[in-house]
Amino acid sequence: MTPTLTIALSKGRIFKETLPLLAAAAIVPTDDPETSRKLILDTNQPDVKLVIIRATDVPTYVQYGAADLGVAGKDVLLEHGGEGLYEPLDLKIARCRLMVAGDPEHRPRLNRTRIATKYINTTRRWFADQGRQVEVIKLYGSMELAPLVGLADYIVDVVDTGKTLQANGLAPLEHIADISSRLIINKAAMKMKHARIKAIMARMAAAVGV
Ligand code: AMP
Repeated sequence: MTPTLTIALSKGRIFKETLPLLAAAAIVPTDDPETSRKLILDTNQPDVKLVIIRATDVPTYVQYGAADLGVAGKDVLLEHGGEGLYEPLDLKIARCRLMVAGDPEHRPRLNRTRIATKYINTTRRWFADQGRQVEVIKLYGSMELAPLVGLADYIVDVVDTGKTLQANGLAPLEHIADISSRLIINKAAMKMKHARIKAIMARMAAAVGV
């Protein structure tokens, strides 16, 4: 019997935009994660399963080999650090930019500028690399609120159209990184299940156009 190949995905935009790429690799889920409560989805291939988890957990599942493959945003990978993972393919989906944002008119507090974000590692690195001392505050959502209520001077968040920032009187100020989703692979699985993973990678790469 062939061992199961497990692919970790998050719901929503990444799932929807990954579906055609999986289809190109002849993998079609038999359940819809938006309507099913199942966390492990079967596919048309009896030895391929999908696990549906939070976006920030995808690198962790793949790092520890609980999933062989995964699709994760570069924002999540920068924050995770990429340990134990190969990142062989830019899927060019769910594109956006990681930005410092705030009110352009705002004068930051004199002692230490405060930055609210869910990307605390990336944010610390960005400011430390430039020798700028900041205090980083971890939030889990609605980052745009933090400067409006005086919790922070600026935020670091992903920006697509910029409409969410604009609706809250904020603007993108500094560009940290261009973001898109990447195929990630567990290092041991890459050795043990090489032929199957290689075949999936090749078909996905062809579908992406690289
Ligand atoms: P925007 O189009 O800039 O108004 O983005 C709408 C919201 O979606 C913002 O709060 C962003 O944080 C979030 N967002 C936009 N693009 C992405 C993406 N590719 N991945 C994850 N979150 C995103």
